[in-house]
Amino acid sequence: MDSVTRIGVFTSGGDAPGMNACVRAVVRTALSHDLEVMGIRRGYQGMIEGDIVEMDAKSVSNIVQKGGTILKSARSDQFRTAEGRATAARNLKEAGIGGLIAIGGDGSLRGAAIFYDEHQVPLVGCPGTIDNDLFGTDETIGYDTAMNTALDNIDKIRDTADAHDRLFLVEVMGRDAGFIALNCGIGGGAELVLIPEMLSDLDEVKRQIRSQMSTQSRSAVVVVAEGDELGGANSVAAALRDDSSFDHVDLRVCILGHTQRGGAPSARDRVLASRLGVAAVEAFMEGRYNVMVGIQDGDIRLTPSRNVWGRKKAINYELLKLIELLR
Ligand code: ADP
Repeated sequence: MDSVTRIGVFTSGGDAPGMNACVRAVVRTALSHDLEVMGIRRGYQGMIEGDIVEMDAKSVSNIVQKGGTILKSARSDQFRTAEGRATAARNLKEAGIGGLIAIGGDGSLRGAAIFYDEHQVPLVGCPGTIDNDLFGTDETIGYDTAMNTALDNIDKIRDTADAHDRLFLVEVMGRDAGFIALNCGIGGGAELVLIPEMLSDLDEVKRQIRSQMSTQSRSAVVVVAEGDELGGANSVAAALRDDSSFDHVDLRVCILGHTQRGGAPSARDRVLASRLGVAAVEAFMEGRYNVMVGIQDGDIRLTPSRNVWGRKKAINYELLKLIELLR
């Protein structure tokens, strides 16, 4: 393979606070290694459409603290087809891009691995998703900020729940994973947490809420992960409203939604994103392709892309016990 003199960086899939800090780290580290950097806008869709801009050190000034992503993000159905990926590969070749740094979640890194198999464009992935559901890294870029945003909102809901003796079902993001819900449940003192990793039995859920609201307090906050098997906060609420034993309960649902994706990245996310961005370029320079950079026990680790998206990262079941113990 000819030596690579120009790489492309892109953000893809669900956006996450800290993606900008990672783009900045990638661009500046690459430039320091005399690699030219192109920004591919709107993820794989921009790769297919040739939406590619030149990046220099200044183009990433004043973004380390900003939410969103200056390169924009997108989902691309076209990239799921071999034809779409062939077009993307052609566009990269035309733009002289010989390697890629991908910043995205599970789907984006899955797409990257397929692209690597088909077109052998050297690629290193960075884990960027609020869901924290990627194997190979203890934390993903955006997770800490999203968790703090959710927690801030749960605190506010707790105040009003308490003032009016209400039961609140608060739905948080996380796709098929319960990391945000579980940790916000502990941090927010939730009476109950419903997460996809745990079988939720509706009768048991009702029993626990009843018990909490009669013995401990007349208000309660239940944190529900969007991917919970009972179908999210609205489904649980509908089931409770159908049950006459909840007739006297003033029940409200609050879906925190996309607030969790926005906002300035936390200190932790900025540092994580910077470390991973630097590590991605360094791995690339060492010829370690088709891997994801991650943090494990505080240290940078590389995991082959295939092992990332094929596996489910386990939650810490010890934390589940804390909910019961401390409520
Ligand atoms: P995230 O990266 O946040 O998990 P998605 O799952 O939506 O977000 O994936 C982002 C993009 O990655 C998709 O829109 C698609 O273009 C690409 N992608 C995901 N899965 C595949 C796949 N199996 N084959 C090819 N491309 C994929």
